[in-house]
Amino acid sequence: MTSTQPPYRLAANENPYPPLPSVVETLRGEAAQRVNRYPDWFCDDLRAALAQRLGVPFEHVAVGVGSVALTQQLVQATADRGDEVVYAWQSFEAYPHLVRVNGAQSVPVPLHEETHDLDAMAAAVGERTRLVIVCNPNNPTSTVVRRAALERFLDRIPPQVPVVLDEAYREFVSDDDVPDGLALHLDRPNVVVLRTFSKAYGLAGLRVGYAVAREPLATAVRDCAIAFGVTDLAQQAALASLRAEPELRERVARLAKERDRVVGELRAMGWTVPPAEANFYWLRLGERSRAFAQACREAGVAVRAFDGEGVRITVGDPPANDALLRAAADFGSTV
Ligand code: PMP
Repeated sequence: MTSTQPPYRLAANENPYPPLPSVVETLRGEAAQRVNRYPDWFCDDLRAALAQRLGVPFEHVAVGVGSVALTQQLVQATADRGDEVVYAWQSFEAYPHLVRVNGAQSVPVPLHEETHDLDAMAAAVGERTRLVIVCNPNNPTSTVVRRAALERFLDRIPPQVPVVLDEAYREFVSDDDVPDGLALHLDRPNVVVLRTFSKAYGLAGLRVGYAVAREPLATAVRDCAIAFGVTDLAQQAALASLRAEPELRERVARLAKERDRVVGELRAMGWTVPPAEANFYWLRLGERSRAFAQACREAGVAVRAFDGEGVRITVGDPPANDALLRAAADFGSTV
């Protein structure tokens, strides 16, 4: 942490808890002794463990340097210069960047009432569309698309166009009506799922995520990876995290409960907060966004302001959340 970093870090959707002791033990032990060696380029042990855990074929799994790298690989594997990638906006900030650096064209479709406008997105798919991305839950609004709406949407997308369900925050979802992308993937050949060890599993600093896609796309995505990009430490920590899943799930449940507490308290104070299903929540503060973030910073809490749009706040541990609630109460009372 730098000296200018406020004590409570609620700006990057990170997990506030350190890795579990069993994960740290793995990193300190054999994995640390092996760093003179290159890692397994294709992450086969991790792919096998994921395939078994997720109930999907081994060939469908690709592991990458965080799911953001896999998003880049997906764009690279599918979209040439002038081709189009359709996604909602506002959504994950990396999408426009990754599309641009690959020479492709973004087709951002405005959110409707803070969530994906799937009808407008389906209408935006055309001849040049090579990829569609649905971020579920959506970053930064924390809102979700539900099963029936997503199924109807998928029915409207031509089968040759891959639809990427970016489920970086899937583990935090409490709403039973939010579909599991993996089940959709098994039913529909063009559905690709992206997940990560950065959020629920708390390994953001190690950079490891995965994609689940059919062949030939899965191979194309693996082919676009930087050689040896996923370190052995990252692979071993991910494997250890899968073994520690019951403990990690318990932490996730605690964070989801904290999310519901904080959102409930903010609403009781009069704030408008869209339904939140990820490990963060969204305040559409428009022109007041920057002032609110500054007030939080002065109260020792880092949050993420999107200029002129709103503020995204990560769910932290109870002391951090309480500090945020105090800052929100003070700010609210000054406007
Ligand atoms: N997708 C979404 C929606 C995200 O918010 C993030 C991280 N902010 C990612 C993907 C990337 O996560 P990572 O690269 O750490 O796996």
